Amino acid sequence: MKKEMVKSIGVLTSGGDAPGMNAAVRAVARTCLNKGIDVYGVMLGFKGLHEGQFYKFNRHSTRNIINVGGTMLKSARFPEFADPKIREEAIEQMKKIGLEALVVIGGDGSYHGALELTKMGVNCIGIPGTIDNDIPDTDYTIGFDTALNTIVDALDKLRDTSGSHQRCTILEVMGRTCGDLAVNAGLAAGAEIIVTNHTGFDEQKIIEQLRLSKASDKKHAIVVITEHITDVHELAKHVEEATGFETRANVLGHMQRGGRPSARDRVLASRMGIKAVELLEEGKGGLCVVQHGEEIESEPILTLFEHKRQVPQGMYDDVLKLR
Ligand code: ATP
Repeated sequence: MKKEMVKSIGVLTSGGDAPGMNAAVRAVARTCLNKGIDVYGVMLGFKGLHEGQFYKFNRHSTRNIINVGGTMLKSARFPEFADPKIREEAIEQMKKIGLEALVVIGGDGSYHGALELTKMGVNCIGIPGTIDNDIPDTDYTIGFDTALNTIVDALDKLRDTSGSHQRCTILEVMGRTCGDLAVNAGLAAGAEIIVTNHTGFDEQKIIEQLRLSKASDKKHAIVVITEHITDVHELAKHVEEATGFETRANVLGHMQRGGRPSARDRVLASRMGIKAVELLEEGKGGLCVVQHGEEIESEPILTLFEHKRQVPQGMYDDVLKLR
């Protein structure tokens, strides 16, 4: 028997926002409309799904958003969605408007919601939207490149002042448990030391390295560290006391989430949005879109949960080769 074609698709953004999410929403909307599929924007992630906050898109709904950061659909944390009863209620809301399938743009938490809905009969496809690049099996997530450039821009500015005052600068960046932002930014901005969950945190080793740098007549130094590893202000105090290197700590914070998406993020988001609709059109669910080299492919969400993203050791080695 021929499978019924999907007639109506919703798209939502969930978890932390990331630059490029709008470009993905636009790609989902336009691909649907070009195929004659009804498409709805769901406000506020799974919270809006549960509340029935649906807006039917037309050709104009997603105009002028490809270059805009944040997410036009807004995002929300809604832990209640882990409750099967709440998900049942959300599915009832979808049925009221004939919404059959969903594209979920977000991080790994959002993928749990997408997978659970698929198990309950609503096909969902995940698109990796998070600046952290902490989703395994995809080369890049949407928002990573823009955030990386924001950090490098900040480090370049800190280098100017750090060099002028012959200081050591410590910068804490986002990434949750993933070191991609720190190691890439460190390489791009010429940092002496990178600290991530992969390298581990050894205060004495950092102090020793900075002492060596100062002794070898280095006039300033940059340390990049992933969030949640240590209190960077305390670390700065300890470094200054132990090395005599005047040291300042900076926490870049939510600035990393904002800004116009880079060209790379827009391209990735656009291609992933198209792919997500094509998968739903084929009657597939429980998958997420991934980038492998130049190809946009898909993987079962379940497979991703079994893996952890690993930044290649070679990247860390390269930082050491250049200091
Ligand atoms: P980021 O990586 O930017 O934090 P994320 O998608 O991992 O993004 P979370 O807050 O972990 O962000 O998850 C987003 C939403 O996904 C949650 O608020 C909740 O609505 C839904 N969600 C998370 N875990 C589950 C789960 N186990 N079952 C159902 N829904 C879930």
